[in-house]
Amino acid sequence: MSFVTHLECSYTGERYEAGRVHGLSAAGKPLLVRYDLGSLSKMITKDALAQRTDGFWRYREFLPVVKPENRITLGEVVTPLIRLNHAEKAAGVTGEIIVKDEGRLPTGSFKARGLALAVSMAKELGLGHLAMPTNGNAGAAMAAYASAAGMKTTIFCPDDTPQVNVEEIALQGGDVYRVNGLINDCGKIVGEGKEKAGWFDVSTLKEPYRIEGKKTMGLELAEQLGWELPDAIFYPTGGGTGLIGMWKAFEELEAIGWIGSKRPKMIAVQAAGCAPIVKAWEEDAEHAPLWENAWTAAAGIRVPIAVGDFLILRAVRESNGFAIAIEENEIFEARDAIARDEGLLLCPEGAATYAAYRQSLKDGRVSKSDRVILFNCATGLKYPLEGKTGFIDRTKAIDYTRF
Ligand SMILES: *Cc1c(COP(=O)(O)O)cnc(C)c1O
Repeated sequence: MSFVTHLECSYTGERYEAGRVHGLSAAGKPLLVRYDLGSLSKMITKDALAQRTDGFWRYREFLPVVKPENRITLGEVVTPLIRLNHAEKAAGVTGEIIVKDEGRLPTGSFKARGLALAVSMAKELGLGHLAMPTNGNAGAAMAAYASAAGMKTTIFCPDDTPQVNVEEIALQGGDVYRVNGLINDCGKIVGEGKEKAGWFDVSTLKEPYRIEGKKTMGLELAEQLGWELPDAIFYPTGGGTGLIGMWKAFEELEAIGWIGSKRPKMIAVQAAGCAPIVKAWEEDAEHAPLWENAWTAAAGIRVPIAVGDFLILRAVRESNGFAIAIEENEIFEARDAIARDEGLLLCPEGAATYAAYRQSLKDGRVSKSDRVILFNCATGLKYPLEGKTGFIDRTKAIDYTRF
């Protein structure tokens, strides 16, 4: 069973019937799933939840899948919260710097959350062929979950997507193509091919269920912190599904009385080479126009235009948060420092959140006593790593004093 009552246009509030295939609303905006939270809260308690051992499917009452057999699983885990002890000490922090390490999920990124839900709902609704544009991680997650569900996938990625990401998609059963353009160009192909190729468009926020999967980050974080939300969440923002999803999670948790009205500052972190949300936030705009010539090696946040821009900006503003852009060199300095000092190899997007935290601490937008969460959205191993290794010629005498 599910507690879904209907879907709702996030822009106009127009209602849509549950149990049918939906893309965007008539207004061309994302649809949000609405629940009978009163009934939901009678069916599940915090204690009952604590007894469950699975990953994000433990929040099934908060999710739209009706039939248990449609829940596709690849062994999801509750992702750990890891304190940055060395960084805290070095900065004299009295609060906490905590990384939520989403790189432990199936396919090595938090895209697993959204795509597990999107694919499970596609199965429930009888769809057989899914397509999407991707910078790598979403495509890998969709291919994996869809293959597990016995569905076909067609996937388009920018032509400079690292080989490892493209091959991962292909090996997990995706029919994958490089396109000479950016993710929005790939998205155009997916949109145009809907009629002719007969696939269903699973682009970020263009179907209603990826956000429900990403919502579980907010539920999980709240549960892990004993139902007490942190002071700030630094989130590497591309399409913004996770930020919007967590904001929705907090709203639902408050509605059922599991948390109070305290909210973390929602901080949208982007790369200086692709910062449409930061620009819109600074200009106090409702929407974020296309960012020209977008570039950053942090591929997950290389999203020049986002259909959910107004929802990201709304959450950032309502939470009293902000949006911040990070230079490319700072991203990689942060990654190297955390790997070296803490033993944690972040993805560049995750590293950007640490760089953003440091910058915000300096300019006073967060304080040393704050408990902050940094989202590491993928394992650092999914990214090309350049050599920092030494070499030993075993045929020559080794100078052991060098070690
Ligand atoms: C997709 C992705 C992001 C951005 O997530 P959104 O919720 O779409 O904004 C950030 N980092 C990584 C590693 C990603 O794969």
